[in-house]
Amino acid sequence: MTVLQLRNTLTREKESLPAPAEAGQVKLYTCGPTVYNHVHIGNWRAFVFYDVLHRALRWLGYDLRHVMNLTDVDDKTIRGSIAEGVPLREFTQRYTDFFLEDLDALRIRHPHDMPRATDAVDAMVSLVETLIDKGVAYKSDDGSVYFKISGFPGYGKLSGLDARELKAGAGGRVAADEYDKENVTDFALWKAWSEEDGDVFWETSLGKGRPGWHLECSALAMEHLGNTIDIHAGGIDLMFPHHENEIAQSEAATGETFSRIWVHNEHLMVGGKKMSKSLKNFFTFRQLVELAGATGREVRYALLNAHYSKKLNLQVTYEGEGEERHPVRFDSLLAAREALHRLDGFRAALERAGEGPDPGDAARAQLQELHAAMRSAIADDLNVPAALGKLFELVKEVNKLEGYDQAFAGEVLAVLQDVDEVLAVLEPEADAGLDADEQQLFEGWVAAREAKDWARADALRDQLQERGIGVQARKGESTWTRL
Ligand SMILES: [Zn+2]
Repeated sequence: MTVLQLRNTLTREKESLPAPAEAGQVKLYTCGPTVYNHVHIGNWRAFVFYDVLHRALRWLGYDLRHVMNLTDVDDKTIRGSIAEGVPLREFTQRYTDFFLEDLDALRIRHPHDMPRATDAVDAMVSLVETLIDKGVAYKSDDGSVYFKISGFPGYGKLSGLDARELKAGAGGRVAADEYDKENVTDFALWKAWSEEDGDVFWETSLGKGRPGWHLECSALAMEHLGNTIDIHAGGIDLMFPHHENEIAQSEAATGETFSRIWVHNEHLMVGGKKMSKSLKNFFTFRQLVELAGATGREVRYALLNAHYSKKLNLQVTYEGEGEERHPVRFDSLLAAREALHRLDGFRAALERAGEGPDPGDAARAQLQELHAAMRSAIADDLNVPAALGKLFELVKEVNKLEGYDQAFAGEVLAVLQDVDEVLAVLEPEADAGLDADEQQLFEGWVAAREAKDWARADALRDQLQERGIGVQARKGESTWTRL
C-alpha cells in the first residue's frame, strides 16, 4: 500500500504518513482566502496545491477531513467595505461568490468545511481568555489583547527565527495583521474598536472589538478538527508571521502539538519577476481568462508545471516600456494549451480504437510500469511534474505501437483516468460557448463561405483552429467544436 510522503517545514525532513489503514482520519487545515478582492494568480497556485494534496490523500485511500477558512473580517476587508460604503457581510459575500466560482473553474474540490471567521467569534474570544489565564496574553492600555511571545519558548521554530532576532524585536508590539521578520514582536489577538473599524465590532467579555487575523485560523482549526491536526498547508509567505503565530496561540493554550506536518508552496513568478502592479505582471484568474482566452483547465495545468516547493515562472512576453509596457503573449498558457491538445488527441484516438492487433505482454508491462511510476511520483511529496513527464512518456510509447485493439485502449484509458483523479486536467472543458471574438470569427467564416470567398474562409478557419476551434460545413449547416 502506498503511503504519502511530505517534506515537513517544521523538521526540514521528508516524512511518511502512516498507511491509510492505520492513519485514522487525516485532518488537514489550509489557510483560505481573504475575501476582499479577486484572488490573484499567485494565490491560486496555493489553492491548486492544496487541491493536489487533498486529491492525493483521498486517491491513496486516506480518510480525509479538510477545513479551510474564509477570512471575512480583518484590516483589508474592513477597509474595502468602508471605502465602498457597503456592509461588511455584503462586501465579503460578493468576493466569496467569485472565489467559489473560480475554485470550480480551476477544478478544485471543495474542502469539507469552509467556515467564515465571523461565524466563530465566540470560539476566538474563549481562546483569548484561555491565553490570558495562562499568562501568555495581556491587555494593553487601549483594550486590545496581545500575545506575549516571550511567554512561549517555542516561538520561531517553524520559520527558524533565532534568539538574536527575537531579542531585537521583543518588548514592542504590533497591531497590524501583516508585518515582516524585522518586526518580531508581540502581536494582536483581539483589537479594541477604533474609528477606522466603522460599524464592525463585537461586544464581548474582552470588550468592544474584533479578532486579529492570526487568531482566526487557530480557533477554526481547533474548533473543527481538534487540538492536534495532521497537516497544515499554506503559501510560503504565510510562514511568518501567520503560521508562527498560529502555533504560538494554539500550543500555548492547549500544551499540545498544533500540527504534526507543515507544508508550504513557493511563490509564483510572472514574467520572471515577483508579481507587482507596477510591473504589470499582477493578474487575477479572471484577467487571464480575459486577456489570454485561457480556460480554467489551462491555467490549472500551467500551475502544476513545477513542484510545489519550487518557484514557478509563468512566462509572459511583453512589449513597450514604462507606462506603455503591456503583455502580448502568455507563453506558459499557450504551452499548456498545446500540451492539453496533445493529450486530448491521444485520448480521442484511444476512444476511437476498434479492431486492431493485441500489442502484447511487453506493451502491457510497460504500461503498468509507467502507471506505477506516476503513482509513486505523486506519493513522493506530490511530485506532479515527474508524473506529467511519465504521462507524456506513456503517450510516446503507445503512439509507437503498430496499433492496438479496443481492450488495450481501455487499459490505457483506465490508467489516464486513475492519475487524473489527482491531476484533474485530462477531462476536456465542458462545451464552453464561443466568446465574442470567436463568435465574430465563426460568423465571418460562415459569411465568407456563402460569398464563396474561399481564401478568406480558409484564413478564418486557420485563425479559429489556432484558438482550438474546429469548423465544419455539412449539408448546408455550419458547426464548430472545441478541438
Ligand atoms: Zn491561516
